[in-house]
Amino acid sequence: MTTANGKTWRRTGIAALAVAGVLSWMATDASARSQAVRNVNIGTGGVTGVYYPAGGAVCRLVNKGRNHHGIRCAVESTGGSVANIDGLRDGDLTFGIAQTDAQFAALNAEGAFADKSPYKDLRSVFSLHAEMFTLVARAAAGIDSLDDLKGKRVNIGNPGSGQRSTMEAVMSAKGWTAADFSEATELTSAEQSRALCDDRIDAMAFTVGHPNASIKEATVTCPSKLVHVSGPDIDALVAAKPYYFSGTIPGDMYQGTDKDVQTFGIRATLLTSTHTSEETVYEVVKSVFERFDQFRKMHSVFGRLDIKRMSSEGLIAPLHPGAERYFKEAGLID
Ligand code: GLU
Repeated sequence: MTTANGKTWRRTGIAALAVAGVLSWMATDASARSQAVRNVNIGTGGVTGVYYPAGGAVCRLVNKGRNHHGIRCAVESTGGSVANIDGLRDGDLTFGIAQTDAQFAALNAEGAFADKSPYKDLRSVFSLHAEMFTLVARAAAGIDSLDDLKGKRVNIGNPGSGQRSTMEAVMSAKGWTAADFSEATELTSAEQSRALCDDRIDAMAFTVGHPNASIKEATVTCPSKLVHVSGPDIDALVAAKPYYFSGTIPGDMYQGTDKDVQTFGIRATLLTSTHTSEETVYEVVKSVFERFDQFRKMHSVFGRLDIKRMSSEGLIAPLHPGAERYFKEAGLID
């Protein structure tokens, strides 16, 4: 009996050890395999904006730790905020940068997302820089205020961009439609500065961090200037939405504009979805936050970034568990 039991135990024990061995071999193999294929991508915007270099900066820091965590990060130039959120939903993107107003609209199936269901799987990772709604006009176009846009050739932005959705919010605050302009073009952020200086449009709108290459291109290439976006309709728009704030673009930043320019803005945020693993998001956040001094030097817009604000402001979608884990570990949230 004892012998038999002992034998049984031994046999079961040996079998169990063998199974455990196979399982652990499989697990090692699986993790090695998944390490080898953990490719992530970040949807950004046009190459002359700030999203594209921002995504590049995040990826560069992530890729420095590739031997440790096995993640390979690639940056994608896209149509902007709305395209990035759509890319997350379609599974084409792992991460995407988007304006807070677009984030809100996707969660609530409004604005550019009105024809879709509320995007419940959208998750926040961290916020980035402030982006100001920026209106640039050719100096000769006779545009000194927002109201002067009526009857002019205006680039309202490509569908899929954040500036298009913010421009539409501005137009509806003013009670305008595209018919109020002599022409409403849909050029991308990378195309519009050239179009302005080629006299194909009179003004362009871009929701973007400052300084950036796109507005520099416009203001250096031809006589052009930034125009105030202000007045009671804009004040009412800002007051009505929690994610808008009033602010200025510093006057000494671009050629042709000496004084501060009044306008309003939102924040840029890094987003993902519930389909991205906790481990992946944790490693991405850690890569940026642990080398934050390096990150801040990677673009002039990042110089003003603050880690505490990045882990708390503009995160309208629920925080992804991987980001939450890092923020808690770093004592940034309770
Ligand atoms: N805010 C813009 C958008 O969502 C992009 C700005 C940028 O490229 O930096 O489309």
